[in-house]
Amino acid sequence: MYLKAIELENFKSFVHKNRIDLREGFTAISGPNGSGKSNIGDSILFVLGPKSSKVIRANRLTDLIYDGGKTGKKADFCRVSLIFDNSDRVLPIDSNEVKLTRYVKKANNEAGYNSYFYINDEQARLQDFMTLLEHAKISADGYNFVRQGDVTRIVEMTPMERRQILDDISGIGEFDKSIAKAEDKKRIVRENMEKIEVLMDELKNRLDVLEKERAVALRYRELEEKLKETKAKISYAKMVQSREDSESYNRQIKEYEDAVEKIEEEIKKKNAELEEIREKKKEVDEKIGELGGEELKEMKEKIDSLKIEIAR
Ligand code: ATP
Ligand code: MG
Repeated sequence: MYLKAIELENFKSFVHKNRIDLREGFTAISGPNGSGKSNIGDSILFVLGPKSSKVIRANRLTDLIYDGGKTGKKADFCRVSLIFDNSDRVLPIDSNEVKLTRYVKKANNEAGYNSYFYINDEQARLQDFMTLLEHAKISADGYNFVRQGDVTRIVEMTPMERRQILDDISGIGEFDKSIAKAEDKKRIVRENMEKIEVLMDELKNRLDVLEKERAVALRYRELEEKLKETKAKISYAKMVQSREDSESYNRQIKEYEDAVEKIEEEIKKKNAELEEIREKKKEVDEKIGELGGEELKEMKEKIDSLKIEIAR
């Protein structure tokens, strides 16, 4: 994979459409001061480093749009396409050429702008763009690009700083970062595991308590059921008993009523008999009256004497 061509439109000093073909093995751009050599580098970074405008020599992204220079007319958008030769399929797209385009258009307000991305002329999301670049291990922040002044800066660095750059270039830096990230993750996971263990202990204790409470509750329910059953049995027995009692009372009452009736009848009978006796006595008294006192006296004497005889 190599960069085959750059197309620029309204990017910094490149007004209108420009195409710069870069043959394989291409090494240098030369030209007079201020002719736009560094702007070409900026245009590459503009596409490859969509996340930071710091890597480009501009305060605001909109400063990258052609500003009309001394005489021209200001543009309100800029577009840069990088055309890569992909015949070795380093980029995971099944075509010999891959064209990555970034398009920035000024918004109505002064500082605002909209940014668009295209892969092979089809609109893409920033994320698709980033994934593709990551796949080819291209980043604007690393040392893929050595810019004007960078060499001087590297020469002036301390050995430790230089070591850092070599680590980054060789990829060791990435590994170190990955290891640090993994260590961080491991630490977080361990902390989480410890928290979970504490939580599990707590839950286990809670579970033990709940199990005990459950056993007590079940026993309570069992006893409550038994109590209910026993109460029901007692009530039933009481009901049966009182039914029997009331039946026997009723029987007794009936018996007493019968007895009272009998006695009343007897009283009636006796009264009738008494009345009869009274009638008879009256008759006897009347007869006695008729018979007179003398005869009665004789008879009484006779009776008395008979009584004495019988007593002997
Ligand atoms: P040197 O040899 O000094 O490093 P160079 O070839 O790298 O120069 P550049 O820095 O690429 O030159 O280009 C600088 C030129 O780009 C300046 O003339 C500047 O006016 C012009 N320029 C920068 N931004 C814009 C813009 N937004 N619109 C129009 N022209 C711009
Ligand atoms: Mg320059």
